[in-house]
Amino acid sequence: MSKKVAIIGAGLGGLSAAVHLAAKGYEVDIYEKNDDIGGKLGEVNIDGFRFDTGPSVVTMIDVIKDLFITSGKNPNDYLRFKKLEIINKNFFDDGCEITSFSDFELFKSEISKIDSISATNLSSYFNKIESIYRKTSDIFLFSPLHEVNYFIKSKKFPNLLDFTSIDAFTTMHNVNSEFFPNPKIQQIFDRYATYNGSSPYLAPGTLNLIAFVELVLGAYYIEGGIFRIVDSIKKLCEELNVRIHTKSMVDKIIVTNNKAKGIKIGSDIFEFDYIISNSDVVYTYSNLIDGYEYIKKKTNKLEPSISGMVFLWGIDDDFEILDHHNVFYANDYYKEFQTIFEYKSVPDDLTIYIAITSKNDKSHAPAGKSNFFVLVNMPYNVNQNWVSEVTRVRQLIINKLLKHGIDIRNKIIYEHVYTPKDLESRFLSNKGSIYGISSNSMFTAFKRYGNRARIIKNLFFTGGSVHPGGGIPLVILSGKNCASIIDGF
Ligand SMILES: Cc1cc2nc3c(=O)[nH]c(=O)nc-3n(C[C@H](O)[C@H](O)[C@H](O)COP(=O)(O)OP(=O)(O)OC[C@H]3O[C@@H](n4cnc5c(N)ncnc54)[C@H](O)[C@@H]3O)c2cc1C
Repeated sequence: MSKKVAIIGAGLGGLSAAVHLAAKGYEVDIYEKNDDIGGKLGEVNIDGFRFDTGPSVVTMIDVIKDLFITSGKNPNDYLRFKKLEIINKNFFDDGCEITSFSDFELFKSEISKIDSISATNLSSYFNKIESIYRKTSDIFLFSPLHEVNYFIKSKKFPNLLDFTSIDAFTTMHNVNSEFFPNPKIQQIFDRYATYNGSSPYLAPGTLNLIAFVELVLGAYYIEGGIFRIVDSIKKLCEELNVRIHTKSMVDKIIVTNNKAKGIKIGSDIFEFDYIISNSDVVYTYSNLIDGYEYIKKKTNKLEPSISGMVFLWGIDDDFEILDHHNVFYANDYYKEFQTIFEYKSVPDDLTIYIAITSKNDKSHAPAGKSNFFVLVNMPYNVNQNWVSEVTRVRQLIINKLLKHGIDIRNKIIYEHVYTPKDLESRFLSNKGSIYGISSNSMFTAFKRYGNRARIIKNLFFTGGSVHPGGGIPLVILSGKNCASIIDGF
């Protein structure tokens, strides 16, 4: 008889675990508290505008394809990946514009327009971040086990013992300043710290490998919108007979004699052989499991990652100056991160990211209009006054865009806003963090909780709050890790 698995949460980590286990013959039930699946990766369709509500950039697409290949399917029958030639258009308040091209020579020539030394150093920088990726990815990204004795036994561990060669003792910003004397180029590379919710002034230089993943391995868009990933995995789940129960809030994980035995929903108890929580690990220990106070205290000490404020704007214009991905930088980048992480406040000058899928997919906005997904970095939720901050940030964004000749003052014809508090209440993510825990120290990679519970048998964790971290490819890997530990593949 096949073993029964319950998965708590239908975020990408939960869906990935479901696919990998169902493909191996397990009987899988997913319980999701919301009325739709996909977690932070959502979609809004309104008044002729279509928005992805969370992720806007996709990297490491082989990890997504693997879900389909594992299930004996052809990924191209489900999703169309489109490689971006222009990764970002970067705007600075003094009028300078730099385009991040995926083509190395084009990017280099773009950089050389403002700084020849930075352009000359680009090639050696790329060599360095590639070497860090090659040395660390097997052990920190692709290995299922995230436990000290596993690290030590791993064949790749000797590579890591030379911590200086992977820039573990310095910060991302320090490394970037060594290679790029120009502060604007530094900012472009420092920004990759936010892809895992951290500050470039604190995160170890090792994380510059994120730039390698996006700029060299490639950034992608999914035809029809990023939400097609969720649609296609849902279809795959149906084909694999995974049962998805929406509007089903799991209230407790039943643990007896240090073994997870089932889940409780309202007054109903359901028994399973294995339980996988795709709910944030801090939330899971604090709210779903009775006892284990020592672990609760320990997980509560982990610093949450950065959060965000998002404006979905239907705009009555199709600004030609803008591309699919646009970044408008704060003048004082250090101050922006200091305000967010140290003071837990909202900065006065913010870096603004705008994704406009209607640049690639005309059907995502009515003719002559565009769909703005605007994301600004925010501190995690410690009950700041979000109502007044929304009004203030909205005006800051409008003013900053105006400096660049983009006047949206009378052009916002649809608006929906969400804050760190909304992210916390809708997805139960710890304090509204987007990427689980921050990587604001060299030890974070070791502190991140693993994919199996340390004391409670048959309990596993998937999603951005656990190994290997947040972001689409990593949470899909975390689901695969759970399946691989359970099934031993
Ligand atoms: C604004 C924003 C922008 C982003 N941009 C990018 C990007 O460009 N590229 C990228 O790769 N990543 C990006 N990310 C990050 C990416 O979206 C996340 O890392 C990933 O989607 C999280 O997946 P997860 O498996 O951790 O689950 P989540 O998405 O956190 O979902 C967990 C699910 O579990 C459910 N749940 C929790 N507790 C219970 C319970 N007790 N009972 C039942 N259900 C429960 C929740 O309702 C939720 O649906 C972004 C995220 C946000 C919010």
